[in-house]
Amino acid sequence: MPDDAVETQATELLRTLIRNGCVNTGDVASGGETRSVDALEDFFAGSGLSCERYTSEPGRTSLITRIEGSDPKAPRLLLMGHTDVVPANAAGWQRDPFAADLVDGIVWGRGAIDMLNLTSTMAVATRRLATSGFRPRGTLIYLAVADEEAGGFYGAGHLVERQPDAVACDYVVTESGGVPIPTRSGTKLKVTVGEKGGNARRLIVRGTPGHGSRPFRTDNALVTAAKVVQRIADYQPKARILDAWRQYVQALDLDPDLASALSDPDRVWETARAMDDLTLAREAHACTHTTFSPNVVRGGSKINVIPDRVEIDVDIRTPAGVETHEVDAMLTEALGDLVDRVSIEPPSNRRRGGTVSPIDTPLMAAFSRVATTLMPGSRVIPFLSTGGTDAKFFRWKGVPSYGFGLHSTRIPYTEYPLMFHGNNERVDTESLRLSALMWEQLCRDFLA
Ligand SMILES: [Zn+2]
Repeated sequence: MPDDAVETQATELLRTLIRNGCVNTGDVASGGETRSVDALEDFFAGSGLSCERYTSEPGRTSLITRIEGSDPKAPRLLLMGHTDVVPANAAGWQRDPFAADLVDGIVWGRGAIDMLNLTSTMAVATRRLATSGFRPRGTLIYLAVADEEAGGFYGAGHLVERQPDAVACDYVVTESGGVPIPTRSGTKLKVTVGEKGGNARRLIVRGTPGHGSRPFRTDNALVTAAKVVQRIADYQPKARILDAWRQYVQALDLDPDLASALSDPDRVWETARAMDDLTLAREAHACTHTTFSPNVVRGGSKINVIPDRVEIDVDIRTPAGVETHEVDAMLTEALGDLVDRVSIEPPSNRRRGGTVSPIDTPLMAAFSRVATTLMPGSRVIPFLSTGGTDAKFFRWKGVPSYGFGLHSTRIPYTEYPLMFHGNNERVDTESLRLSALMWEQLCRDFLA
């Protein structure tokens, strides 16, 4: 099949997945990913691939198909894409977010880059390999999962825990990466090698109720909560510098003094605080620290009642290696002498630690070979994600997992952060062609 047919096939499959609108609100009754599993099963029909379906809850279906390798000692590579998307408010868009309009080589719609583009291009590569008679030594597993956008517990998490044989593998590739970043020393392509853990806590601040007309020397929980919020906002946890962060900073071609300061646990905080580049400052801070963001507050009952209880929900993200008990120790330190006024609700028993995969694996080397073939002069660099993906479920089991893809330069790299979960999400069809070819070559290189 010629390359332009690859592009057409990936484009049409992506448009179908966008139109299916598998919007995940976090409610178990949302998502409806079974619709896109049906579409993928239709897409694979006639290729000789057989599909397995796994349903965790009604409508929450994931799909697996595989090309079995001939050598049980050769690596098993799992390509994983999610089929759900976050909601979109059409009022902020130039086009209907679920119409999948194709205009001048650009596909518009929710999921165009997160991550139906990769889910489609991985499927196209898998089908092409199957129909070309690819008989690898290693095994290729294609997995389309439900529920990534609400934590993945009805998709990848369900499969890893309940169907471990179906998803047994040695390496995983999923979102995200491969958007070309121009630097003085050439084009860099990020490979996500790790991500932060989510360790949110609810703080309950107590007070004593009383009449709102006599506030003097009372014990108002909201007044205490205001101090608690300020202390959390001001708190400076110790920095933690991961190898992946160090290598990423080196690859950015920054001023050498700045690069070394950003990799120094004793200087990174002050350096980030003084930087003009707010994007890099926030990234540097988040990638090297546990972060605390007090985002939701609930309290008070009536205008004339002094509140006796206020809840504060704090979004807490930990780098790989920070344990749950350390989060509570940091909160205690942040609260200082207010600690007796606050109870910290224990987290649910779901796993939530940050994760990181080794940088020096054969798969990382294969990314590098394939990327330089398709995009001469480019170099892959490790990257840490501050958000979460389904890769965590596999890293928790010790399986090296990475985020990659391959994009053209048509949409500037600076646009991408705005499009993830944002308005006017879109992808160019050249990027779809590049990604599909990259997955295919990666399999031919790595599993041969
Ligand atoms: Zn995603």
